[in-house]
Amino acid sequence: MFKRKLSNKEWLLAALALVSILIVSHIVLLRYRKKNRTESTTKSAGGLQVKPPAPLFSPPVLPEEYKRERKPVIAVVIDDLGYDEAIADKLAQINLGITISILPYLPNSQTTAQNAHKRGQEILLHIPMEPLDEEKLYPLQPGMLLLEMSASQIRREIGRQLSAVPHIVGANNHMGSLFTGSRQAVLPVLEQIQNQGLFFMDSVTGPHSVAYDTAVELGIPALQRDIFLDDLPDKDYTLHQLALTVKLAREKGSAIAIGHPHLSTIEALEEFIPQLEGQGVELVKVSQLLDL
Ligand SMILES: [Zn+2]
Repeated sequence: MFKRKLSNKEWLLAALALVSILIVSHIVLLRYRKKNRTESTTKSAGGLQVKPPAPLFSPPVLPEEYKRERKPVIAVVIDDLGYDEAIADKLAQINLGITISILPYLPNSQTTAQNAHKRGQEILLHIPMEPLDEEKLYPLQPGMLLLEMSASQIRREIGRQLSAVPHIVGANNHMGSLFTGSRQAVLPVLEQIQNQGLFFMDSVTGPHSVAYDTAVELGIPALQRDIFLDDLPDKDYTLHQLALTVKLAREKGSAIAIGHPHLSTIEALEEFIPQLEGQGVELVKVSQLLDL
């Protein structure tokens, strides 16, 4: 190609030209890459945030079931028992795993507990506690703990209630949106529960309850309600709330639902509970959640 040998100066010029070409092409390539990255960020986040470049390999996302050793569990507690004995029987027929919570001093508080215990149902004491004003429209329960009571009055009353309902393994609050907001008020209740070797479940009836936190602080085995099943006494509503309970259990491993002895709640449980196994979810007695 060349007819004569290149001089040293010409070699130097050729080498410089080659280096320049390499530098320019490198700059062009870098700009092109940067432009592409900016475009993809703008597309995915509306240009508001800078997204880090996607990793070349993302590990496969495992379904939640694979992440946990055990299947999700739910507990269903039916409150306000003690009026009608037949309701505990009906709940046992649906599933013995349904926990019942019995109010003290009602005509059937004791017999409901005795019969339920014979059938193998789990029983809680349902402790009436003072609600906020708007709930006082409902008739107040016998034995209701009031904010104005002294610690020794509360201790005495709880002592009576704990022996009024036999075979209990724990206790939860009936109403109490006012009472459970006071640490001073819940302290003597929880101490009595602790002395009896029972556990406490906060029904969470108000946004300011300190009952669960106080129980944990005292070292009492404690749980708190996640879902209310029947704020509306309507079967479809309760079915929806039961599905929500299952969804929550899939997310966090377990969930607690509280319902009441309404016909619509019983009908919804009758329909929903037998389907649980097919959904890979287990119904457990509420005390079993303490072991998780
Ligand atoms: Zn209640």
